[in-house]
Amino acid sequence: LAQLYGPLNQLGYIYRSVNQSLVDTEKLLALLNEPTEVNDRPGAPDLIVNDGEIEFDNVNFSYDGRTTALHGVSFKVPKGSSVALVGESGSGKSTILRLLYRFYDLGEGEGRILIDGQDIRDVTQKSLRQAIGVVPQDSVLFNASIGYNIGYGKFGSSAEEIEAAARSAQMHERILSFSEGYETKVGERGVRLSGGEKQRVAIARTLLKNPPILLLDEATSALDTSTEKDIQKALQNLVRGRSSLSIAHRLSTIASADVILVLKDGQIVEAGSHKELVALDGIFASMWADQVSADDHISLDDRSTKKE
Ligand code: ATP
Repeated sequence: LAQLYGPLNQLGYIYRSVNQSLVDTEKLLALLNEPTEVNDRPGAPDLIVNDGEIEFDNVNFSYDGRTTALHGVSFKVPKGSSVALVGESGSGKSTILRLLYRFYDLGEGEGRILIDGQDIRDVTQKSLRQAIGVVPQDSVLFNASIGYNIGYGKFGSSAEEIEAAARSAQMHERILSFSEGYETKVGERGVRLSGGEKQRVAIARTLLKNPPILLLDEATSALDTSTEKDIQKALQNLVRGRSSLSIAHRLSTIASADVILVLKDGQIVEAGSHKELVALDGIFASMWADQVSADDHISLDDRSTKKE
């Protein structure tokens, strides 16, 4: 089988390179919801990332021009640090990620979003998106081999690179348990992967992409303890050394973030480390107390429906 694996893998690469140009990157992005056209200014330069520091500067945003989705939102994600967003459903967490990925541009007077001091409206979308890795809640898998699905993160990646990424994402052993290893077909017409496995594939893909900035939308669904541990380890490997902005639903992520921002009705109402927010004894402290006393996996932003 090991002898077969090499040539099969080669075939995988050919298939991948032919397919690469045909696949729409945005299919990968479950964050995407009804994006409007965002156009680059003529002659816009590429984003130059040195540190990967993100800044939201007094951001105001409305999808429909009537209701406010974000109001006066200002915060920084310093180089290599992790910021977690928490808040009830509709509080604006996804909007923050969508704006950073430039699904929408801020208008005049709606504030600025900067990466290493450059307003993201002034740089090419392509260079911005190259600098950002996205791990959505529910990743899309192509009807292709698992190796293809991981290698998609970086054009022309070698079998060794794919395997290293899968190991780092805690997925290698699982892949070896499939009858054809990395050549096993996944997706609708192949092996069906669980939510946690799909997320680890997305993590492996993003490790290969190697972006300085990460957007993570944690799965809300309950995971068993060992899957949860694997995902946490995979995420730790991914987040290390990168600036990350996560929508946090679970205790483990929230506790390990450098800064937690609590959103309510489109505004940041509390900000600080886990310890600081618990000591503040406000909204976060009560969310935390509720979650500690309940199941660890109950979603923080959906407690009213799930705790019944
Ligand atoms: P959830 O946890 O449910 O995903 P969230 O905190 O991510 O919620 P957002 O999706 O950012 O919240 O929504 C913020 C506000 O913007 C809400 O009032 C929501 O109804 C509104 N909104 C979100 N997407 C759109 C859209 N495409 N068009 C119009 N309004 C929208």
